Amino acid sequence: MKIDSKGNIIAGTTAILIITLLLICIFVVTSINYIQNENMDSQSNDNFKYIVDDYTQNLEISEREAIDGATQKVFNGLPVINSENQIKKNLNKLLDERNEEYEKRYNVKIDSETLSVENTDSPWKLLFKVKLNIEKDDEKFSKIVEKNASVEGLRDPLPIAKLTVLSGILTYDNQIHYKTALSAYMVLHNFDSPESYIEATAPLYIKKCPYDPYIHHGDYGVMDDCLKNGYFHESADGSCYLCRLEGKGKCPHYGFEVFIQTHTPLKNESLSCSDHVVFADHYNGEKIDPDDWNSLILDSSHRKKYGLVDDGY
Ligand SMILES: [Zn+2]
Ligand SMILES: [Zn+2]
Repeated sequence: MKIDSKGNIIAGTTAILIITLLLICIFVVTSINYIQNENMDSQSNDNFKYIVDDYTQNLEISEREAIDGATQKVFNGLPVINSENQIKKNLNKLLDERNEEYEKRYNVKIDSETLSVENTDSPWKLLFKVKLNIEKDDEKFSKIVEKNASVEGLRDPLPIAKLTVLSGILTYDNQIHYKTALSAYMVLHNFDSPESYIEATAPLYIKKCPYDPYIHHGDYGVMDDCLKNGYFHESADGSCYLCRLEGKGKCPHYGFEVFIQTHTPLKNESLSCSDHVVFADHYNGEKIDPDDWNSLILDSSHRKKYGLVDDGY
């Protein structure tokens, strides 16, 4: 009897142990499966998130390309009548191509539409709003994506948009060479001393002047360096990039100005050389250094802005 009950106890204990082990095994297997499924889920989420991030991060490159497409149109001698619409059209075309590429590569469906291209409080940046729908299986991304695109490094379209390619303007060595185009324009409008602007030059590419505040242009060597590098300056009177594309020398938006540099022995009063003055505001200035062929012709308010009030710099 005693042996029997001992045997029963052993058998019972063994059975309980086996059942417990089995339960642990089932639990472990289920857990592993569950964890694996979790991973698979988050992997496909990551994949979709990666596609969306990749697409939106590359938007700025396409946006700049769309702006440059409008600039190229101006340089091809064609007028850009509404720069915002032109850039929107260019960007939609670029994005359509990209959407197709993504569909092939990632098996996603992408719909995009450029809603607007606007000025920002910085003249160096334009704000794009793009409506975006991205779908893959049952995952969806739907949003109006807002991105800034910089105009730095793009060409200044104003001189050609304003005077046309037929005027004889040339672009080489990173510069705009006005040749006789500006003086012809000045003769046409009866401005003083048009001969002063024969062979005038200006920088071709938009570069933001680092000498800020601008009053430091009066410090020794700064103006020389600014001219050598062909920097552009923020200006409430100068026109913004969108209006430059349309050939407007002046606009209500916050924009920039650049010096049109004359190279002449003449010492007469002539148009002050800030580009919004030459192309729109039309008031006179004088050479800062009358004996220097390359001296800027500037009016008193621009001299003040750039710290050139005292004679010489
Ligand atoms: Zn400067
Ligand atoms: Zn404007």
